[in-house]
Amino acid sequence: MYTVKFYKGDYIDRQREANRDQAVAYVEHHFNSSASAQADYAVVVVGSNASQTSRNWGRWYAKEVATHFGTRIGGDQGLLVGGWNGRGDANVKYTSMPAVLLEPLFASNPQRADIIRSDSGQAALARLLYESIQRCFPAGGLIAFSVGHKYKRSRPNDRGAALAGGGWEADYAEKVLEQTAALLQTSARGDEAAVGRKLRVMQGDLVLFETAVDEDVTLVWSSERNLLSIPD
Ligand SMILES: [Zn+2]
Repeated sequence: MYTVKFYKGDYIDRQREANRDQAVAYVEHHFNSSASAQADYAVVVVGSNASQTSRNWGRWYAKEVATHFGTRIGGDQGLLVGGWNGRGDANVKYTSMPAVLLEPLFASNPQRADIIRSDSGQAALARLLYESIQRCFPAGGLIAFSVGHKYKRSRPNDRGAALAGGGWEADYAEKVLEQTAALLQTSARGDEAAVGRKLRVMQGDLVLFETAVDEDVTLVWSSERNLLSIPD
């Protein structure tokens, strides 16, 4: 089962408190921004001292965000190790557990900003993060969440980047983390369902069909027949 705690204050204090609480994973959520309105990719920052679990987690998340939203992955196969021009590293490198700083979409890109503001976009981002946590931390535990920019003592009015068309990065990052927390804490009631390999059919955020699949089988998709076959 999972529990979730939101950490506030300056970034170093959030990380130290999560260490004291023995959190099993740490997520700081941002949205990216660029002077170019066309900039469009998914990337995850990990610390310069990042573990292999942090790297695998970040790469999986960046790749699945890019697949879902039809964008590409940035950085080195989705990762910026040690941050970008000195930014980001200190947000995660003081954790004693795996940690990622998420930059799934560009707030400065008008099409992506519309997605960030939408209920369906937030729900999809929450589900992707939730699944990434289930995948990398199947034993459950305390998950530490940090809303980028917001709630710092040093710059209390910081809300991060402006979204093209209105709104602020940090407010939407907070919405996505709150939805992810709800998914994690609901799964705690029936966490056996999260164990093993599952095949799902989804329409938007609605799961239409779900079944267990043997770990060893290869699923075969035929686009001509619109048929996904599960070998016996
Ligand atoms: Zn940010």
